Amino acid sequence: MSVTPVLEADVLRRQDPELAEILLGELTRQSTTLQLVAAENFTSPAVLAALGSPLANKYAEGYPGARHHGGCEIVDVAERVAVDRAKALFGAEHANVQSHSGSSAVLAAYAALLRPGDTVLALGLPYGGHLTHGSPANFSGRWFDFVGYGVDAETGLIDYDQVRALARTHRPKAIVCGSIAYPRHIDYALFREVADEVGAYFIADAAHPIGLVAGGAAPNPVPYADVVCATTHKVLRGPRGGMLLCGSELAERVDRAVFPFTQGGAQMNTIAAKAVAFGEAATPAFTVYAHQVVANARVLAAGLAAEGLVVTTGGTDTHLITVDPMPLGVDGRVARGQLAAAGMVLDCCALPHGDTRGLRLGTAAVTTQGMGEGEMAGIAALLAGVLRGRVDAKRARDEVRELVDAFAPYPG
Ligand SMILES: *Cc1c(COP(=O)(O)O)cnc(C)c1O
Repeated sequence: MSVTPVLEADVLRRQDPELAEILLGELTRQSTTLQLVAAENFTSPAVLAALGSPLANKYAEGYPGARHHGGCEIVDVAERVAVDRAKALFGAEHANVQSHSGSSAVLAAYAALLRPGDTVLALGLPYGGHLTHGSPANFSGRWFDFVGYGVDAETGLIDYDQVRALARTHRPKAIVCGSIAYPRHIDYALFREVADEVGAYFIADAAHPIGLVAGGAAPNPVPYADVVCATTHKVLRGPRGGMLLCGSELAERVDRAVFPFTQGGAQMNTIAAKAVAFGEAATPAFTVYAHQVVANARVLAAGLAAEGLVVTTGGTDTHLITVDPMPLGVDGRVARGQLAAAGMVLDCCALPHGDTRGLRLGTAAVTTQGMGEGEMAGIAALLAGVLRGRVDAKRARDEVRELVDAFAPYPG
């Protein structure tokens, strides 16, 4: 399998060696270090081919059959295929696949349902809420009045009693669930019930788990939420981008919230790549993949716990794990640097109710590479070995190199 047609064609190398060098450098970095960033994955060569296709040239404002530009007859088909595949994959009456990113999808969901100044209830940022869930640095915090719920100090689980109590007190116009760091399944039925009780819309920001949903390894928010926002590039393994899923009665509002309200021309190469990814996600192989992602995360979490790191909520139901490395003598920020030097790439994150930062890691990318539970146990031991100073950076890099060479993301 070739990596990307562009790199392989050598066109870039001949015309622009400087950029070709940079692109190959990044490919080398991705394939010689261990990718544990929970939001990342390796897209297939087919997805990369669609991304690098001439559909990138096409202007297509509007929707299939109703565009503001000529010559859209082919890209219209591509978008219809993407929409139909998304609807079938998630059992949704309507799908919008034009959002340029997960954040754009959230913006569009708010635009479809809310007015500036409305009250919105969402997971507080210290507990894993996304920037678009009310950060003062983001449009959401400036244009809406966000109230944050939290997680239980003991268990790390969402405090559903607090969700209900805050909803009753503040009567929000919308209730949002979804997180950048929550490792457990979310009780969508309960959010629906609370939203109905107070007359709020329920928006599920499923940016992280949507790929697990596609593979049947996590509950589907579509039957419960008014609007589901998602990314296509995390566990779902598609191109960088967003999408929205909803019932037919909100379809027009959602579409108009994406274009013309918050975006211009659709990126047709990305939409074609999303269609390819949805096609891959509908295969039995992807179901196996999604379940393996979770099995791997469970083993990795258990391994880290056995090494003395404190695993938030005691484990995981998903691809995502957050840990406090402090018992090993380092906080998340220092640990991330030490692990990067050892060839292990991951993020630090806020820890609920902690004063130091933790580490966030995920198994989507390593599972795409074909690694299984055995490799996860090895990674947990190596990670702890580095943080304890038992394994020096050079030896760790060698071990990582041996591992990723045996599980090359883009063989050949
Ligand atoms: C990743 C993520 C987003 C944003 O996705 P981008 O494509 O980076 O804009 C939004 N919400 C949640 C919960 C996320 O995890």
